[in-house]
Amino acid sequence: MKRWTRIVMNGIILSTIAIAIKSLPNIDKNPNLFHMDVKEKSSEPRTQYQIQAELDHQQHTIRASETVSLKSKSSQDLDDLVFHLYPNSYNQVETMSNMLAKPDPKLIAKEIQKNPSLTKKDFLGDIEVKDVSIRGKKVTYTQEKQVLKIQLPDPIQPNEHVEVKIDFVVKIPYGFQRLHYRDDFYSITKWYPILAMYDSKTGKWDEKPYYPDGESDFSELSDYHMELKVPKEMTVAATGTEKEDINQNEKIIQVNAPNVREFVFFASPHYEKETRKVAGITVNSYYDKRNAQSREIAVNGLNMVEKALSFFNEKFGPYAYPEFDIMETRVLGVNMEYPTIIQMGDYSNKATKLSFVHELAHQWFYGMIGNDPYQNPALDEAFAVFADQYFNEYDTKGKNGFKHYLSDKNESIVRLPGVINRPLNQYGPNEYGKYIYGKGGIALIDLYYKVGEQKFDQIMKTYFEKNKFTNATFANFFDVVSQVAGKENADYIKKAFSLPDYHPTHLQKR
Ligand SMILES: [Zn+2]
Repeated sequence: MKRWTRIVMNGIILSTIAIAIKSLPNIDKNPNLFHMDVKEKSSEPRTQYQIQAELDHQQHTIRASETVSLKSKSSQDLDDLVFHLYPNSYNQVETMSNMLAKPDPKLIAKEIQKNPSLTKKDFLGDIEVKDVSIRGKKVTYTQEKQVLKIQLPDPIQPNEHVEVKIDFVVKIPYGFQRLHYRDDFYSITKWYPILAMYDSKTGKWDEKPYYPDGESDFSELSDYHMELKVPKEMTVAATGTEKEDINQNEKIIQVNAPNVREFVFFASPHYEKETRKVAGITVNSYYDKRNAQSREIAVNGLNMVEKALSFFNEKFGPYAYPEFDIMETRVLGVNMEYPTIIQMGDYSNKATKLSFVHELAHQWFYGMIGNDPYQNPALDEAFAVFADQYFNEYDTKGKNGFKHYLSDKNESIVRLPGVINRPLNQYGPNEYGKYIYGKGGIALIDLYYKVGEQKFDQIMKTYFEKNKFTNATFANFFDVVSQVAGKENADYIKKAFSLPDYHPTHLQKR
């Protein structure tokens, strides 16, 4: 996400669907179903999600069933499984994201005036788990505080596989947040029960609800396959690659998304797309076909992504997926990144700030190299800010690059006294953006100037090569800096991100 704060950056914003249940594709008959397309490191088998879903365009709900096949990573017997129920963060205004427009009474009144069939309840959303079963037998579960806890009838032993089937219904909120519908546009993100992270050291599941500031979804790379039913007029784009079949009045979309951290989709009857091949990757830019300006902005985004994707391929390492999608949506406040797809705002709204390159950069920092964005929020955001400015440096031959970026930063950001990287709950009011995006990005520019471009590129390539398709920590990054550029540089950048009173000393300003 790129935060929409004038103080911190020079203009940034961030930026859903339902289902009927039929038989799933038989993976035994097609063992390659989940293992195609993406170059990967051989490691533990990944958790597999098979989702069948139907979008109800009248009720604005998704009825779905997911079968999750996983292997226990615990060294002890496991008595329960925990899944996050993030859509329940939309069941009250207080737990919705502070980075995006919230349905306060004024906004609700304005929207109801435009659309009198709306009621206050429509602005809230949630997820209700209807049934959980293992090997065809119902099991007991609880759902509270954004967490689904499943009691296992028989404990799972270390390395044992289990397959759990969860039936659920998502009520999509009308609105502006990551998960929403509005103006016939659906953004379906953070929408299904996703397996929590298990800490094998403490033997505990991560039961944290979604934090209202920043992003706090932390998950393992998994393989997804979804069969989605939508009204036939809908155009759908999702994480991974899509294939569609039209059957009388409905459309069935098959989506295949191996080796990704989460799974989202977007749908609207108003989508049109522009497509281009970039370095062998299909890049699609979806926009509202009713609006001439939308197409222009979509093409402009495609042009930027075309250049930046090639640049990041060269500077960090190759984008590993066959497709990348840029979506115009009705999110309001910031733009958001998801694996292989980004959520932009309303192109017809002049106030919309668009951060195509920043969200693309997240494919490397968050997507391919993962991190815990609650504990280490700077590990993806500061790197995406840096990458965006690095691209500007290259694209404008230095005119609108690092020096321009630094000249826009007021000294109070450069000289902020606190620690840049902290767990999300340790930032004071209005601190998060200034530190993570502002000073975090500056710290990496500082390192760039300190070690020089060649060494810096070598650091980033080595960091990517060693950590792609894993969840990295800052320690992994510091190790690479030490290996490539020596201990003194590693200590310098470690202090920059982890200790107070870091003052950048190598910045080259105009
Ligand atoms: Zn971001």
